[in-house]
Amino acid sequence: MNGDEMMKGWHVMSEEVISGMAEWRQQHPQATFREIEAEVDTRLAVLRVRMMSDAALQSRQADWEAGSRAALCPNCGAELVKKGKKKRKLQTRGGQEVELEREYGVCPRCGQGIFPPG
Ligand SMILES: [Zn+2]
Repeated sequence: MNGDEMMKGWHVMSEEVISGMAEWRQQHPQATFREIEAEVDTRLAVLRVRMMSDAALQSRQADWEAGSRAALCPNCGAELVKKGKKKRKLQTRGGQEVELEREYGVCPRCGQGIFPPG
């Protein structure tokens, strides 16, 4: 996942936060300020977690793709073998699809295929 792909995913998610909040407001015209605050917090928390995990994973994945760090099989701990870039489709909460191109790894021992680091 490069920076552009990461931003693309964040854009889609932030649009969901915005449109979801607008929709919620229409369905809750009598909501108090506290209720609105809680709803905004809940929706932003999802985006916050996603941004943190993406940003954290990005450097580990870049290291693996550059060959400076090994990725291990989550099943058996063997070192994964790179199988080239594959497109990975991720579903957002709102059912929208984000397509990312990432290096795919296969375990030589148990045959498990994953997108490191997970
Ligand atoms: Zn394995």
